[in-house]
Amino acid sequence: MDKLLLSLIVPCYNEEEALPLFYKEAVCVLSKMDCDYELLFINDGSSDGTLEVIRSLSSKDGHIRYFSFSRNFGKEAAMYAGFCNARGDFVAVMDADMQDPPSLLPQMMELIASGEYDSVATRRVSRKGEPPIRSWFARKFYRLINRISDADIVDGARDFRLMKREMVDSIVAMGEYNRFSKGIFGWIGYRTCWLPYENVERVAGETKWNFWKLCKYAIDGIINFSETPLNIASYFGMGMTMVAFLFLIFIVIRRVCFGDPVAGWASTMCVIIFIGGLQMFCVGVIGRYIAKTYTESKHRPHYIIAESNDEAAKKIG
Ligand code: UDP
Ligand code: MG
Repeated sequence: MDKLLLSLIVPCYNEEEALPLFYKEAVCVLSKMDCDYELLFINDGSSDGTLEVIRSLSSKDGHIRYFSFSRNFGKEAAMYAGFCNARGDFVAVMDADMQDPPSLLPQMMELIASGEYDSVATRRVSRKGEPPIRSWFARKFYRLINRISDADIVDGARDFRLMKREMVDSIVAMGEYNRFSKGIFGWIGYRTCWLPYENVERVAGETKWNFWKLCKYAIDGIINFSETPLNIASYFGMGMTMVAFLFLIFIVIRRVCFGDPVAGWASTMCVIIFIGGLQMFCVGVIGRYIAKTYTESKHRPHYIIAESNDEAAKKIG
């Protein structure tokens, strides 16, 4: 009987320093495992020597298939390209910086082979080495998104997970342009086993995330998987109308009973400005959703592959 095939998807953006270290470690672990494997390196428009590193590795190792994007499309697009092109019976996504330790793979394989689970996902139980303010916001984000969306998103969840073919097919079928993988994994369901591990710091190179990029990522996540902000905007509107109506009755009664002493210009201005601000905010929230709908409706491809060592690769997807 043929051995099962494991596909490892590795998105790489400016990882020339980390990639050789990752490759060495990954091959060391994979060669000891009882399955065939393929390494899918996705070069996400790197501006350093990442592509050269990948080319030279692939010329020596037949297990490597690489796909190089025409520009930087982002990690979500890189993962999607990997899912579209992976051939494995099992597929795993891993970062190139060793923050997703390859040494966990055999244990993950064992868990999935037991037949009890469709996917084994990893979760950081510590956030060692991360700025405390970033950790604080991250925790708040996970609490919020779980309350307001129907996708089950686990705090500290990494994108590092091993999945069965069926699950990968479901992910590919979720062809939305605005992708938020943590939400997609949770939304499609399946039986997932969570494997906790201590945070590992990146071996080389630098993180591509800064605080504002993370904020934007969090807002995108909420907008992609929840309609609650829209509902809040309409509840606010209704509440305000009700208050204004009661206030109107109060003013009319006061006028009739006590006459009309002219006063309260300042408080009127405050109310007008406050309500004006609130309206702008709500319009902004609605605008975010419309913007998402707009990008979705254009049906643009998620990625464009400019170079690959695989002739049969799905070049645009
Ligand atoms: N990455 C990518 N495209 C991007 C940004 C990042 O493919 O636009 C890859 C990067 O090379 C790495 C993984 O995504 O393999 C995670 O990135 P990073 O380590 O910067 O994120 P962090 O671990 O700090 O969350
Ligand atoms: Mg990292």
